[in-house]
Amino acid sequence: MFNENLRGIGSIWIECPIERPDSFSYVLGIIADRFGVSGFSVRSASRNVIRIGSTLSESVYEFPCEFLTMPQAQWLSFGSLPRGHLEFLDCSKEFPIFLQSNSLPVFMPEGHGEILISNNCIHIPVDIFGTIYFMLTRYEEYVNLARDSMGRFSMKSSILRDKEIYSYPIVDLYLILLENIFLKLAPDISIKKRLPKIDVSCDVDHPFFYAGGIKTRIKRLIGDIFKRRSLRAAALTSLSFFKNMDDIDCYLKALKFIIEVNCQAGNSATFFFIPISNHKNDNNNSVSDSRIYKLMKLITDGGHKVGVHPGFLTFMNDFLMREAIDAFKKPFFKLSSSKNYIYSRQHYLMWEVSKTPKLLAKNNVDIDCSLGFNDHPGFRAGTCHQFPLFDPRTESLIGIIESPLIVMEWSLFSPNYMGIDDLDIAKKILIELKEKCFSVDGSFSILWHNNHLVDSNYKKLYEDIIFPFDEKAKFK
Ligand SMILES: [Zn+2]
Repeated sequence: MFNENLRGIGSIWIECPIERPDSFSYVLGIIADRFGVSGFSVRSASRNVIRIGSTLSESVYEFPCEFLTMPQAQWLSFGSLPRGHLEFLDCSKEFPIFLQSNSLPVFMPEGHGEILISNNCIHIPVDIFGTIYFMLTRYEEYVNLARDSMGRFSMKSSILRDKEIYSYPIVDLYLILLENIFLKLAPDISIKKRLPKIDVSCDVDHPFFYAGGIKTRIKRLIGDIFKRRSLRAAALTSLSFFKNMDDIDCYLKALKFIIEVNCQAGNSATFFFIPISNHKNDNNNSVSDSRIYKLMKLITDGGHKVGVHPGFLTFMNDFLMREAIDAFKKPFFKLSSSKNYIYSRQHYLMWEVSKTPKLLAKNNVDIDCSLGFNDHPGFRAGTCHQFPLFDPRTESLIGIIESPLIVMEWSLFSPNYMGIDDLDIAKKILIELKEKCFSVDGSFSILWHNNHLVDSNYKKLYEDIIFPFDEKAKFK
């Protein structure tokens, strides 16, 4: 049940329905954490509405609460999914100053209507608690089992595809609305402010261009001669049989570029390494290689972080996940203090909602950074803030923090995904996403692989994106 004895913030109280107390506690915990308070005075009521008020004010704000109060027989059934019909709620009269955008995206409940005021009760027709829960738990992915050819849940299969719901940090916007309500009810309360930031990362799938055993290099030599028809490339590949090529290795140079340019931008970047190769897509990487250790040291010495990048087959496999994370821990603890958080991102973003986070938590990973769509940028969990993952099946915390990924460069450029070849268009999309994240004081989390930072045009685009804005952006 709710802890009704938590210290409230000033005079604010929240009244919730009595069903699913653990799920309501999860949402209340998200709100408390975002506002930096220890809790609320919470009351239970048998109506399917959420009411928020204050002992200092006669006004009461009321929201429908349909999703979290649905009958148990429907819970986690396909029929319980919202249809994803997005509408916009005009908030310009009630929240003209606070909300940067004067309209709120709404898809729960459907056919919502408008804000109604009667006898000090302000009825806002948005299932705020249900939507926050639906988005953060990835409820949809427990119910909709459509997966792509590799086994991933893609944007194409999501209800968030309709009217581009994925393009809104909907959870963060709802939390801003709640913050505004709290401030109206009790103007003197102190709410924690978060600072927006750029969260840069690189999955080091290809640390070296001149890599692999004799077979791989012979294959490359044949490709240089017959496919690429480049004598220069063939000569360099031949040289790599006898000589260490690190000084001219373009992938290694790109990694050093990422390190340097992020130092200049004041960003601490995270570099994810595949610990063990169990599949051809893992590219024969191993963190026990001394060249990799040297590279990891260069990264941590430069003030950046290293994280684990469990291989292609680990996402549903207990044994392979444990083996990968154990292998990573050896160099990691040699380089970092045991107090440092273990960050993880799944290779190819192979992430299954009911399985992967639990495997990671079991192996003492602190923060997962995989939750973004592989096929499109956007807000897969409706937020650009970190949050604890929660399982709607058991209605309990999973024991791991999610740091959502907003954009991977490959989603923009791959012909299988957005297929953008005009870098000005890519820049526009990236700047818009960055503005949206900054407008809700969130983290613009961007993944850019080093092997896509060889060309100078891509490097220029990267530099244009990873520097902070001078001024906080406004949500459009
Ligand atoms: Zn990868």
